[in-house]
Amino acid sequence: MVDIITRFPPSPTGYLHVGGARTALFNWLYARHTNGKFVLRIEDTDTARSTQASVDAIFEALEWLGIEWDAGPYFQSQRLDIYQEYIDRLVAAGHAYYCTCSSEKLEVMRAAAMEKGGKPKYDGTCRDRGLAKTDNAVVRFKAPLGGTTVLKDVVKGNIVFQNDELDDFIICRSDGTPTYNFVVVIDDITMNINTIIRGDDHVMNTPKQMLIYKALDVPLPTYGHVPMVLGSDRTRLSKRHGATSVTAYRDMGFLPDAFINYLVRLGWSFGDQEYFTREDLIEKFSLENIGRSAGVFDQEKLLALNAEHIKATPIKTLAQLLIPFLEQEGIQAPESAFVEKVVETLAPRSKTLKEMARDAVFYFADTIAYEEKADKKFLKQKALEPLTLLVAELEQIEAFTEENLEDAFRAVMEKSGLKLGKIAQPVRVALTGRTASPGIFEIIAIIGRDKVLDRVSKAVAHIKDKSESME
Ligand code: GLU
Repeated sequence: MVDIITRFPPSPTGYLHVGGARTALFNWLYARHTNGKFVLRIEDTDTARSTQASVDAIFEALEWLGIEWDAGPYFQSQRLDIYQEYIDRLVAAGHAYYCTCSSEKLEVMRAAAMEKGGKPKYDGTCRDRGLAKTDNAVVRFKAPLGGTTVLKDVVKGNIVFQNDELDDFIICRSDGTPTYNFVVVIDDITMNINTIIRGDDHVMNTPKQMLIYKALDVPLPTYGHVPMVLGSDRTRLSKRHGATSVTAYRDMGFLPDAFINYLVRLGWSFGDQEYFTREDLIEKFSLENIGRSAGVFDQEKLLALNAEHIKATPIKTLAQLLIPFLEQEGIQAPESAFVEKVVETLAPRSKTLKEMARDAVFYFADTIAYEEKADKKFLKQKALEPLTLLVAELEQIEAFTEENLEDAFRAVMEKSGLKLGKIAQPVRVALTGRTASPGIFEIIAIIGRDKVLDRVSKAVAHIKDKSESME
């Protein structure tokens, strides 16, 4: 059996879009699933719109997603000789011809066709003139005058195109630059691509491309056109719906494995399974299970899936991934063993790395800023007694073992007559500034004796200050 060879051919006119990433992913997964190859090609023939910054952004996004290519990156701008060779070949074989019709003439032709209620088609003036190459000549492909071209699409089923709907389209402009539908085919042929999975915005290009294969007597690839990714209002996903760039999701603190899990589920299914590891996807991905209906991008679902992937990621890995996010919160190069302990308490309750970093700030802070609500609700007069008692108890114990801490809290409960909850909440605010956090004992064990005593004492002073200023 021949190896499956798939490709991803982005046009470098912007960042990698969520929809493009899904296309890349499908092709990559199918290549990995079949032990085939995945080719990266940069479609940069539109020099006015292509930029190096976009090329770099696309590489960066693919690398983050862990989509590595086996061949390329090829750049269309460096392959013009190859395209020329195929143009000459098609002309020599009578499948293409030079046309010198002026733009004025084409305008008249179009107007006449429209008047008759037809499509604005080229009328074939130069088709059989056997013109030689001249400076102002374009090259047109000789499209069949009748019959049909049938696209056998693995996603959409058969789609029939009437050949007389297609005119003799231009494959090379008068300035010598080849056109899009032509170069795509020449690239796919010369790169031995045999499986093309792409967005269904390319369906209308496909019959033209298929005719070029036929003229060159090359077998057709397998085509699969996948529906576009939609936003919540079921229109094509765009900035109006939120971030559409892949790296924006990296910066929001999503894990690449969660993101690919979510992307793939936007257009492919495996029973009702939602959670997939990368290995799982490679093992299970198939073209048959690509869906016919469009997936709707839903950030809430993505967040939920990310939380699951965070829970399943080893603590050491998470700690490494968290460091740049901690730096964004102003926490500089913390010791990794300490970060690991912190992560252990936060991984079960974080939806993103960014959220985890924000929730981790109190572990590293020198001073705790109290959230207004937390301050009002818990750092009040009533908390003064248990907090003062706790400072006294904690000062007496040397080692902050779990057992010693439990004893200290029990003593405070007995002396104050309060339940644990009534003591723990003000302590939590004293230690973290917030009303929600990992367990108090876990936190105390991590931040250590000095900081705990300092923070609880400061909370006591803060309550006293407040009540004085009220007097
Ligand atoms: N360069 C095209 C795009 O960015 C893809 C062409 C193809 O998949 O055939 O949409």
